[in-house]
Amino acid sequence: MSPAACVIGWPVEHSRSPLIHNYWLKAYGVAGTYRREAVAPDRFQDFLQSLAARGYVGANLIFPHKETALAWSEPDDRARAVGAANTLWLDGVLRATNTDVPGFLDNLDACVPGWDGNGGTAVVLGAGGAARAVVYGLLERGIPRVVVINRTPRRAQALQEWFGGRVAIAAWDERDRWLGQAKLLVNATKLGMPGQPDLVVDLARLPADAAVADLVYVPLMTPLLRAAKARDLRIADGLGMLLCQAVPQFHLWFGKKPEITAELRSLLEHDLAAPQPSSEK
Ligand code: NAP
Repeated sequence: MSPAACVIGWPVEHSRSPLIHNYWLKAYGVAGTYRREAVAPDRFQDFLQSLAARGYVGANLIFPHKETALAWSEPDDRARAVGAANTLWLDGVLRATNTDVPGFLDNLDACVPGWDGNGGTAVVLGAGGAARAVVYGLLERGIPRVVVINRTPRRAQALQEWFGGRVAIAAWDERDRWLGQAKLLVNATKLGMPGQPDLVVDLARLPADAAVADLVYVPLMTPLLRAAKARDLRIADGLGMLLCQAVPQFHLWFGKKPEITAELRSLLEHDLAAPQPSSEK
């Protein structure tokens, strides 16, 4: 049986990971498949336990499974340190890692070269599984202060306790006030996705040399990125991160390190430009 992998989420319809991995499978002549699997939180453990029986060699995890996956797998050092995993693979046991960390950093390096040169403060909106990877990556790069701002304060507090002294937290209503000192603003919430409200934030407060990264990639140009562009700020979009985090996943599952080609990026851009089903979240 040829190897198969999947993306597991709830919801999962918006995920463009199948386009990426199926493009690479075809491009490299690998006999394999990649599918979406909509799995509700109460079915997640059972689903993971039946991964091999379903023919899967591994899986990509999206919300809301990134944090809970650690309890049902053998996380590597990075996934353990982040407190969340986005990648699973079967190797006798079910192993977990987090490729959101290198995906976020590689994309930022490519889109905003030197972004980490002057230290400064980074403001991260959100405190879910993706925000954990972002905060971990920023701290790993030596950013002196990371301010985590989340709608639900206890989740931001949990990140502060987890990552320690260089992480500060602030209330959701105070997010604009922190932008004046931010060298980097990262949206790691769901805000801006179809079916979600827009992210309301006063970008006029950001310094002129600040950069803005949005993890949301449906739509490709989120209102946040549009506003940042209108201010001539440097931006890193969510699609770039999605592509970068997929490279080590494909390598793990299918044994080949793939390239992010202009053709692949263009395929995804066209797909994202097509009308979206209203049920997407
Ligand atoms: P998650 O664990 O479910 O966390 C969702 C986050 O969004 C939480 O901080 C949540 O705040 C916040 N949020 C949701 N609705 C909100 C609202 N109405 N107002 C304010 N905050 C709200 O999800 P995740 O896995 O971290 O993913 C977060 C986003 O990152 C998603 O859009 C996902 O697609 C994107 N992502 C992109 C990539 C990529 O490669 N581009 C990779 C990973 C994730 P509360 O704690 O208050 O609920």
